Amino acid sequence: MQQFRKIGVLTSGGDAPGMNAVVRAIARKADKQGVKTVGIIGGYNGLINEKLIDLTPGAVSNIITNGGTMLYSDRCLEFKTPEGMAKAIETCRKNEIDAIIAIGGDGTFRGATDLAVHGIPTIGVTGTIDNDITATDYTVGFDTAMNTVVEILDKLRDTCESHARCNVVEVMGRDCGQIALRAGIAAGAMAVAIPELPFDEAKTIERISAAKKKAKRGMLVVVSEGVFVTDENGKKVPYGEVLQKKIESETGIETKFARLAHIVRGGTPSLRDRLTASQMGVKALDLILEGKSNLVVIEEDSKITSMEIVFSQMTDRMYKGKLQDGDLDQFSAEEIKLMEEICEKRRAEIAELYTLVNDLAR
Ligand code: ADP
Repeated sequence: MQQFRKIGVLTSGGDAPGMNAVVRAIARKADKQGVKTVGIIGGYNGLINEKLIDLTPGAVSNIITNGGTMLYSDRCLEFKTPEGMAKAIETCRKNEIDAIIAIGGDGTFRGATDLAVHGIPTIGVTGTIDNDITATDYTVGFDTAMNTVVEILDKLRDTCESHARCNVVEVMGRDCGQIALRAGIAAGAMAVAIPELPFDEAKTIERISAAKKKAKRGMLVVVSEGVFVTDENGKKVPYGEVLQKKIESETGIETKFARLAHIVRGGTPSLRDRLTASQMGVKALDLILEGKSNLVVIEEDSKITSMEIVFSQMTDRMYKGKLQDGDLDQFSAEEIKLMEEICEKRRAEIAELYTLVNDLAR
């Protein structure tokens, strides 16, 4: 087995509850294996500027319950430049970092593959509240984020019920309506608008009016931040506030708007996130110690496993309709078929949840 002097760990891109549990799992399991780990502070920025801390077992004590990330996160444009990459490689060389585990989302993994090209083995762990990485069933942070949304929706329901109001609530999810859909169902929303599927505005308004006639008082509508409409000036505007005004004017029900934004990113990680984070962290470390690189740790049918980062990225592009010429050239017909199956599974899952929202809303 290859001897690793030190393994670097970083968190990058949007933070997610449970990232700390991944860091802890890597540091503790590495210590058990007699391997040193260093934390890279502020994502790729810390790698460029040599901001490092030793991740001794004690250094990760008492962090499993904390939201955010003890390693901090940053977006770092310099890392995309040859100069930035050269500095990052120099930091690794100087500090005897032989491999890196990068916790984050899609952008973070692109950075990881660049590092691997430059000779630093890297493994990615999915940490993003949106659950927007098509190839994995689950990303660390998703469960906590959904629970936070449900908790807030429940509070809004109380006051909507008292005042006979509707509340349109915008939640995070740029390309992906997973948080909106699942939290919407759990909170008993009247409708959910997501980027993946067309939203039937007329039917929603009709449903709200009908419910009002039957003396229903409190109503909730959940909208993903990734749903936009074009206004009269041709400007793309978030749909949530537009829908709020329409519901109010067309149903006569007082309607409020709430944008939950970054509230959904914070908070104590749930059991699900702590557990999956711990399993994924250990898996990432095992893969590194086996000499693997360019893989992302995923959850598939309740099992923690891994896949090629590039396969995951192309599956994502396929799902989001963003494939470019030549993207699939390096894959066999069998691999492309597998990508299509993963996309289909995701589409079916979203469609099923969407139907459930509409079947239950009355
Ligand atoms: P996320 O990982 O949550 O998708 P970002 O897209 O902001 O977040 O990416 C996080 C960081 O990863 C960026 O600030 C940058 O340092 C690095 N990164 C993103 N895209 C690339 C890329 N194409 N090449 C190299 N590094 C990248």
